[in-house]
Amino acid sequence: MTDSTYDTLSDPVVQSTAQRKKGVAKGEPMIRIQGLTKSYQTGPITTQVLHGIDLEIEQGDFVAIVGSSGSGKSTLMNILGCLDKPSTGDYWFKGQKVADMDPDELAQLRRGAFGFVFQQYNLLGGANAVANAELPATYTAINADERRARAEALLTRLGLAERMHHKPTELSGGQQQRVSIARALMNGGEIILADEPTGALDSQSGQEVLALLKDLSQQGHTVIVITHDHEVAAHADRVIELKDGHITSDKRYRDRSPDAESTPPAGPGVSQPNSVLDLARAFLTAFSALRQNIFRTALTLLGIVIGVAAVISMLAIGQGARQDVVDRISAMGSNLLSVFPGAPNQRGRWGVATLMPEDADAINEIPEVLAAVPELTGNRTLRREGFDKEAQVNATYASFPIARQWDVAQGSFFTQEDEELYATVAVIGQTVARQLFPDRDPLGEVMLINNVLFRVIGVMSERGASPWGQDQDDVVFVPFSTGSLRLFGQRWVRNITVAAVSSDPQVMQTANDKVHSLLLERHGVEDFTIRNMASIIETATETQNTMTLLLGIIAVISLVVGGIGVMNIMLVSVTERTREIGIRMAVGAKRAQIRLQFLIEAVTVALLGGVIGVALGLGITWVIASFGTSVVFATTPVLLAFGCSFLTGLIFGYVPARKAAQLDPVQALASE
Ligand code: ADP
Ligand code: MG
Repeated sequence: MTDSTYDTLSDPVVQSTAQRKKGVAKGEPMIRIQGLTKSYQTGPITTQVLHGIDLEIEQGDFVAIVGSSGSGKSTLMNILGCLDKPSTGDYWFKGQKVADMDPDELAQLRRGAFGFVFQQYNLLGGANAVANAELPATYTAINADERRARAEALLTRLGLAERMHHKPTELSGGQQQRVSIARALMNGGEIILADEPTGALDSQSGQEVLALLKDLSQQGHTVIVITHDHEVAAHADRVIELKDGHITSDKRYRDRSPDAESTPPAGPGVSQPNSVLDLARAFLTAFSALRQNIFRTALTLLGIVIGVAAVISMLAIGQGARQDVVDRISAMGSNLLSVFPGAPNQRGRWGVATLMPEDADAINEIPEVLAAVPELTGNRTLRREGFDKEAQVNATYASFPIARQWDVAQGSFFTQEDEELYATVAVIGQTVARQLFPDRDPLGEVMLINNVLFRVIGVMSERGASPWGQDQDDVVFVPFSTGSLRLFGQRWVRNITVAAVSSDPQVMQTANDKVHSLLLERHGVEDFTIRNMASIIETATETQNTMTLLLGIIAVISLVVGGIGVMNIMLVSVTERTREIGIRMAVGAKRAQIRLQFLIEAVTVALLGGVIGVALGLGITWVIASFGTSVVFATTPVLLAFGCSFLTGLIFGYVPARKAAQLDPVQALASE
């Protein structure tokens, strides 16, 4: 390290103007300030802090600005470092007027040209030495490996080889200050601005830091040290005294280091940041920020997790129930049409007497129709010695098994001849067979239906529950003629079931149209209603659609609530991390980069909530399914959940992110 002693102070020498560096226009100093003032407005009171400062600083100089506390040194430094703007007066940096630059250009200038060293170090508490040193380079295009290598090299050069992976709290003050110097040098550090760099250090560490700064100046860096301590100032080549916002003296004690003009400070290129890399880095930053506060992150996630999980599992179950209904209806035959008495939309049309079995006979003649059977149904009491029960009796045609695609399991169905002979024969469903003939084979047995004696000639195969949950096997079929005459006393039918020759939608439509015009011709008025399976399925699933809508509303509400949680926590986070934002801005982060960082944190929280929610939802669904409830796992709700949680993060993260990006760098740095 350079030996620096106070007794080497010589008389001020006239500043040479011969030295010029590339990047600075000929005849133009690196920093030129004219008539610069700065006032602060606190309520109605205006305090003027700087009163017309004129100053020029050459490249490679080692300048100390001394003054007592409150004299305006930090204010001046913030303006020099483009963290703050003067109230009036001009500042040219390398001949370029700073007042003409927009916030992004200023950020670029800070990132590329300036390196700040603060009294309180201003390191990121959650990051280790390497990560802190790297910070300015994370806003440039250099890749992660190169960045890391450079940070490690700098830290090693500054004597921190052993402490690279320690966090600031595990480092001494002097070590922390050296980390912050490494950070200042990360992007080249053409100009090092050090505000009371030794103010918080013991004298030994202070000496080391000063020696470092002197080294840097000799390597060609321009170093500006701000201090209230004349002993510290004595290390500099040039000492400027500031008193109550005026420069009271400006003396040169040593010429600028001889190397200063020949050795430009080394730094990686500060080309424009790459947006894809930016995004990847921002995600990593977001993850580490969230990891630092796991409990809070978990609580924030909870709203979104619960919402997404509820929706995923409820949708799966709702879809399962819907699928069940559709399956059961389709199982009845997708080639079926049902004709009911009464005009469409007519109230109480179920009891209307407009359909006759002859209508079914006529429909049977349509080529697209496989079979048309009338059905006359009603509950009747069945009785045999020692047993009786109530069941549905269906008086229909011999072609019923064809029309309904429902086979006889035992014996046979009644025939056309039985129909013509008014035969008292019956074919029973499985439930009737079980309950009325628990002790014997029902075939050939007799039973009473409403005191009329019928002989059982067949047993239908098992059909199970109808789409509406009714037991379809609790039924007795009798010939239409016998049933209408002896059991129902009427010829009007409850409905006509029409089976088309195929379930092809076109054939179904043709059959539907032909049945319609035929019946219209026969009746003269539309006193009937035709329903096909598609419309029946539609009706049956209407309730399910309502449920889906309700689920959607629940989803939206829970995501809004979750989103408000995210927004709330992000606002808290911005407030808590104001200083971090200030540091990031000081090292050259553009507003868009700060905004992106916070937006990505919000999106990361929301997406994480989405992932956990989906997993939980699928888990719940799986458990429920294992108890026998039918569920449908679909990808759409999962994708939708991800999309929605992404949007939630984006929308509710925007306000906090904008708030962070709009912060004033100086105020942000000054915050606790
Ligand atoms: P120094 O660094 O020399 O101690 P500063 O530049 O920090 O002095 O402050 C100079 C004066 O400006 C002080 O009187 C301080 O109170 C005032 N000051 C600094 N920042 C602000 C601000 N943001 N608002 C109002 N007054 C301020
Ligand atoms: Mg100060």
